[in-house]
Amino acid sequence: MGEKERREGEAKPGGKRPGRSLYCRAMAIRDEDIIQIKPRPINRSESIYLPEVIRGFGATMRHFFTSFGQGKTSRTMQYPEERKEQLGVEQGGQYAGNYRGVHRLNRDEQGRVKCVACMMCPTICPARCIHITAAESPWDDREKYPKKFEIDELRCIFCGMCEEACPVDAIELTTEYDIVGMTRQEMVFDKEKLLHVYDVTIGKKPM
Ligand code: SF4
Ligand code: SF4
Repeated sequence: MGEKERREGEAKPGGKRPGRSLYCRAMAIRDEDIIQIKPRPINRSESIYLPEVIRGFGATMRHFFTSFGQGKTSRTMQYPEERKEQLGVEQGGQYAGNYRGVHRLNRDEQGRVKCVACMMCPTICPARCIHITAAESPWDDREKYPKKFEIDELRCIFCGMCEEACPVDAIELTTEYDIVGMTRQEMVFDKEKLLHVYDVTIGKKPM
C-alpha cells in the first residue's frame, strides 16, 4: 500500500475513518434494509423452565415408543425396501431431482467419454479428490481426452462444483447414494466405473 493510501485509511483525530464510508457503500445490504428481530420475552411459565423440560421429555418419550412400531409418528424406515426418495418431502423424504449423489462421466452420441480433459473440475474441486491424466485425443474433434480419470468418493463433499464448472457437461452428480465399498481403494472411482454409473443411471437422470 502506498503512503497516500495508508494515510487515507487512518482515522482522523476525533473523526470517522475515511475509508469506512467507502466500505459501507460497497456492502450488499444497506443499513435501512436490516430488520432487527427481538426475541419474544419469556412468560412466567417458561421462566420456571420445568414445564418446558417436561414437554420436551414427553416428545422424546413419544418418539421413543412409536419408533418400535410403524405408527404415524414412527421415524423408523425399513431400508432398503423403503427409501427416502419414495416419500414426499413433507413426509421427511427427499426430492431426488435435487439430490447430489455419486458422480458419473457422461458419454457423447458415439458412446465416447465426453470429457475433454480441460482440468476445470480438478481445479475447482475444494476437496482435491479428482485426479486426471490427460493425453492426446485419438479423435479429430478434440485435442485431449482423459487417459485416467479418478474421483475419490470418500473425500468428495458432494458440493456439485465440478458439475457446474464442466464446459461440456461431461461430469454429473447422480441421485445414487447407496454406494458401498470394503476398502478405500474401492471407493476411488476410475474412468470405467464412472462411465458404468452413466450407463446405469441414464434412464433415471437423463442429460
Ligand atoms: S462434488 Fe465437489 S468435492 Fe466432490 S468431486 Fe465435485 S467439486 Fe469435488
Ligand atoms: S471439467 Fe468436464 S471436460 Fe473438464 S476435465 Fe472435468 S469432466 Fe473433463
